[in-house]
Amino acid sequence: MTSTLSRPAQPAPVGRLVDQFERGLDAPICLTWELTYACNLACVHCLSSSGKRDPRELSTQQCKAIIDELQRMQVFYVNIGGGEPTVRSDFWELVDYATSHQVGVKFSTNGLRITPDVAQRLAASDYVDVQISLDGATAEVNDAVRGPGSFDMAVRALENLHEAGFQDAKISVVVTRENVSQLDEFKALADRYGATLRITRLRPSGRGADVWDDLHPLPSQQRELYDWLVANGNGVLTGDSFFHLSAYGEALPGLNLCGAGRVVCLIDPVGDVYACPFAIHENFLAGNILSDGGFAEIWKNSDLFTQLREPTGGGACASCNHYDACRGGCMAAKFFTGLPMDGPDPECVQGHGEHLLAGERDKPTANKDHSRGIPLTLMTRVPDSWQPPTAAPSKACDENPLAGFTGAR
Ligand code: SF4
Ligand code: SF4
Repeated sequence: MTSTLSRPAQPAPVGRLVDQFERGLDAPICLTWELTYACNLACVHCLSSSGKRDPRELSTQQCKAIIDELQRMQVFYVNIGGGEPTVRSDFWELVDYATSHQVGVKFSTNGLRITPDVAQRLAASDYVDVQISLDGATAEVNDAVRGPGSFDMAVRALENLHEAGFQDAKISVVVTRENVSQLDEFKALADRYGATLRITRLRPSGRGADVWDDLHPLPSQQRELYDWLVANGNGVLTGDSFFHLSAYGEALPGLNLCGAGRVVCLIDPVGDVYACPFAIHENFLAGNILSDGGFAEIWKNSDLFTQLREPTGGGACASCNHYDACRGGCMAAKFFTGLPMDGPDPECVQGHGEHLLAGERDKPTANKDHSRGIPLTLMTRVPDSWQPPTAAPSKACDENPLAGFTGAR
């Protein structure tokens, strides 16, 4: 990420960068773009309830027009996901188009298309980063969540990338009650393949809402996770995911605030723009790129994003001694568990969330669900002509949205 992204949307007095980020930037630092809702798997915790392709999915030309706009906005890097993005027949064409227009790509995949041949081509590029999803360090734990055969598929992709000489792939793990005891094993797996471990928080979004009660880490495991991050966090990416755990004491690296609509947002497969990848719900819909004047207009001027950039008083958390560290936690986690938005996080380390979860709750129903019953076998092929570009990537928000900004707290 270069310094051009550090310009605040409004003039700000000299102060902490985190305060400027709260007011929003000219362009998002962490932009996630879900290219399709189609997926060959049916993971029980899928945040976008993926499975079936939406017939209104953006066309190749519409996607390229968005990339053009991202280039004009100087968005140097986009996280591409889905669904399984590589099942789009134009996926490699879009990757190529983005990187040749100075928009770096990191894509998340379950490993489906990472054949030895594709791995060779990816290894020739410094502008494309690959993130393989894995939710268990063993097939038993992983496949219970992601489906039979998914562990072997992901490990095969890692092997192919490693053998092709691909540098620094990511292994992306959603931390659950079942795999939190495997953090050392995940790290060893990453080391074995020359990869970097990235762990993120389980959110009750999409199908995750159905399994969150059973899968989210228990309070004792949250402490275990925090201690592990403090001891091992230097070589592990978190996407600023666990800032609610900072209330245990030492702040974890990152912004330690909810970046939704400020530095983070999501473009979905039909061009809808949401405040955050974990908030796919009409309440967090800022607009549609096709019908509301384009991405820049929505990012800069939508009512929702304007509102999210307003200072918040802290609500019920304002009097908490840990508010500076935790800021009341994750907006999406509160919303999808049916807790008040101005109250504590459902996984509040002070135990306030547990108390609220035990009471009456009105959980919102998902208004987008692309789940299907039968796994798809989608056999789109990588065109032989596709060659990855070789310019240098920018991957600043892997670890910390403040990465690269001097003076960050
Ligand atoms: S809603 Fe939660 S996941 Fe989304 S940006 Fe805010 S804190 Fe992060
Ligand atoms: S009460 Fe609120 S601010 Fe305090 S630790 Fe819990 S969620 Fe964080």
